[in-house]
Amino acid sequence: MSRTKSILTEAKQIDTAVELIKLGARLQVLESETDLSYERLLRLYKEVAGKSPSKGQLPFSTDWFMTWQPNIHASLFLNIHEYLNKVAELDEIDTVIKAYKLYMEQVSAQGLEPQLSVTRAWRLVKFVDNGMLTMTKCSKCGGHYVTHPHEIARHYVCGLCNPPARAGKGRNAGAIRLPSAQDCMVD
Ligand SMILES: [Zn+2]
Repeated sequence: MSRTKSILTEAKQIDTAVELIKLGARLQVLESETDLSYERLLRLYKEVAGKSPSKGQLPFSTDWFMTWQPNIHASLFLNIHEYLNKVAELDEIDTVIKAYKLYMEQVSAQGLEPQLSVTRAWRLVKFVDNGMLTMTKCSKCGGHYVTHPHEIARHYVCGLCNPPARAGKGRNAGAIRLPSAQDCMVD
């Protein structure tokens, strides 16, 4: 690798790290996605976020993605991510960043709070990559939702078509509309 190239690569990595910190990513995400040293990332984090990164483990379980509202938010993000994957030639991490920004736009356009953190969004993509989670088409509305693999599509009904009883009156408060692919069009 030439000197120029490695400098550029490093600049790009710093950009990526800064972008992720601004979105609220955990330090472990930066460690995984860049070659920058831990000390460097820690300094960068404090500089950009104005505080020390929170300690503790990353969420390792797929359970969170299977609960009602998180599943709808995760599905919205993953639909956007899959779409970008097809149409945009971006690095993997840039696809996550761009998809996450579009997810936040969609959520705020519907007057809702994002429930999916960028760390969980990143984690979700990893879970899909390693086959622990996938998307299944709802047999009622035809939308694609995050599920465990081997869900039987013929019988699968999503959380919007079949909200839990406990959702009651508040069902619309958290029920986000899944956009069609066209709504996710970039720029
Ligand atoms: Zn449905």
